[in-house]
Amino acid sequence: MAEPTPALAETLRQIETLDTSERPLVVCDVDEVALHFIAHLEEHLESLGLAFLSHDYKLTGNIADRNGAPLPADEIKGLLQTFFDTWTHRQQPVEGAPQALRRLSQDADIVFLTNLPGAWNRDTRARTLSQHDMQYPVITNTGPKGGAVAALAAGRPGPVVFIDDSPQNIRSVQTTLADCILIHFVADKRFFATSDTIAGVHLKTDDWGAVEAYISRCLSD
Ligand SMILES: [Mg+2]
Repeated sequence: MAEPTPALAETLRQIETLDTSERPLVVCDVDEVALHFIAHLEEHLESLGLAFLSHDYKLTGNIADRNGAPLPADEIKGLLQTFFDTWTHRQQPVEGAPQALRRLSQDADIVFLTNLPGAWNRDTRARTLSQHDMQYPVITNTGPKGGAVAALAAGRPGPVVFIDDSPQNIRSVQTTLADCILIHFVADKRFFATSDTIAGVHLKTDDWGAVEAYISRCLSD
């Protein structure tokens, strides 16, 4: 998809419901950043007799049956939908995320921006986050996130931070909002180790302590 991509109408509609604010903003992804995703997906795959072929950062071509035959691309979407329908209410928080976000929320607004298949899962996702002490606005989106982050940042004079595990989303925000502080976060140690380093990213980490320290420094500059 050509960047910069505009925000989707449905995403903008949700963003318009948020209070306007001139505070710094932290836009945080959910899957594999605030809540575990890969570890739960692995358990889901196992229950279906499937497994990851490698720790490369991709789903298509990287999920296979016991004989090692990769799942066709057109079956991945259905697989993910089933995963979210059965796991959204019980995904576990990434270690340190609730505490770091709680402390950062004293100096910045926190907004979750999540590409969650199935609009019907949105309230469940917000409830799960809230149960784990992460009660911040949840905006659902589809596809690249640049347009949505630009809309969230509009009218704010202060720093805007974007945290995501997806290289596609980070590049989208990088293209759309030039002065955004970019944090590439992957909770799973194995997938973090093999993830690409993206040029221009300000911090790449699997540690919420490092995220909090870095953002705190940016906010006090
Ligand atoms: Mg994610």
